[in-house]
Amino acid sequence: MTKATAYILLGSNMGDSYRYIRSAIEKISKLETTSIAAQSSMITTPPLEYTHQPDFLNTVVAIHTQLSPQLLLGKLQEIENSLGRVRHIPKGPRTIDCDILLYSDVVCTTPALTLPHPQIYTRPFAAELLLEIDNDIIDPLSHKPLREVVLCHQ
Ligand code: ADP
Ligand code: MG
Repeated sequence: MTKATAYILLGSNMGDSYRYIRSAIEKISKLETTSIAAQSSMITTPPLEYTHQPDFLNTVVAIHTQLSPQLLLGKLQEIENSLGRVRHIPKGPRTIDCDILLYSDVVCTTPALTLPHPQIYTRPFAAELLLEIDNDIIDPLSHKPLREVVLCHQ
């Protein structure tokens, strides 16, 4: 079976954020059939929706995997839980958040799994980190280069 390429946005704004992100990447690299293909730079971003909280540290990793999108999401949620993620305030502080931005060209519109992740289009930094890894990513919704699509949203 050929492997899918997925892009995961990691974010943390509690405790030692750098260490939480490193640990999450290490755990992702150990998932069955999964390898890390690339990592973007790490950047600091201000909180957007619930603004009364510290800045976030963010990075994107590209992975190759044979896990289905749903299985991958489940594994990422296990990793979040194992790193002490507790959900007190929606959009609030977290030790680690793992969001699937893209899973190959899969389009999925359920609340439990939305692909592409909407924040690609609403948060310029998410698209910037993706395009830093591969500037030629095609947007699965429009079938146009993502770099052109996100310019239209700014
Ligand atoms: P946040 O929206 O801040 O990332 P959570 O991490 O608590 O908040 O995620 C909320 C819900 O978003 C999860 O229950 C998950 O099922 C859902 N979800 C939908 N699409 C995705 C995706 N592409 N990646 C990760 N979670 C997703
Ligand atoms: Mg999340």
